[in-house]
Amino acid sequence: MPVDHVLRYRQGVENVLAERLAAVQARVAAAAQAAGRDPDDVAVLLATKTHDAATIRTVLTLPGAAGLLRGENRVQELVAKGPALADLPTATHLIGPLQSNKINAALRWVTCVESVASARLADALSARVGPGRTLDVMVQVNVSGETTKHGVTPDDALTLARHVGTLPGLRLTGLMTIGANTDDQTVVRAGFATLRTIRDTAVADGLTTATGLSMGMTSDLEAAVAEGATIVRVGTAVFGPRPTVG
Ligand SMILES: *Cc1c(COP(=O)(O)O)cnc(C)c1O
Repeated sequence: MPVDHVLRYRQGVENVLAERLAAVQARVAAAAQAAGRDPDDVAVLLATKTHDAATIRTVLTLPGAAGLLRGENRVQELVAKGPALADLPTATHLIGPLQSNKINAALRWVTCVESVASARLADALSARVGPGRTLDVMVQVNVSGETTKHGVTPDDALTLARHVGTLPGLRLTGLMTIGANTDDQTVVRAGFATLRTIRDTAVADGLTTATGLSMGMTSDLEAAVAEGATIVRVGTAVFGPRPTVG
């Protein structure tokens, strides 16, 4: 393709991504206003799984990108894309399960692990984080009880949160969940309310840094913001449908 066609194509892609990001930000703002909340209290985390570093960079350097976070599900993708994005100021979170043999690789690229769902993983992170560094962590709770989902049960969440709160090198910043896999927004929202209740109890219990609620994705971010989400994690609404990985 001639160079000007390539440039025009790239500009077209950038425009589409910019429009979609603005649309997500408008959804968050409208949901926050409807709930009597300050839209600035809800961060948008870009869920970038399967997308390449160049596309991610395009979004993270848009004029509207200030305040965005990035989330990856797999350490393999963190490692693969990390070097090409390392110059950007965007904080990166791990939002998928972490095996102990990948902890060091994850620690190289993230400031927060949102997916801590066992005392064993919390202990291992605490042991590896290293002197002079504090890693933010969130406890992932499976509010829907769906067996395909990672996370501790709502009943076990406070015990794990209290344990994390005792560990050196870790700062518990809140709780994370993935909403129920249903079109019924009443059910989805009830799950988010469960997470908020656990968070309120944790904070009242003295876990004063654990104020965050990472919940809500493309299909259910309004319900999450209505229930107090401080981070919504959005992939499809910005990047479009993910390529199917084989
Ligand atoms: C993929 C993913 C998201 C974003 O999902 P979309 O429906 O594409 O917005 C959010 N959170 C987690 C943990 C994910 O894996």
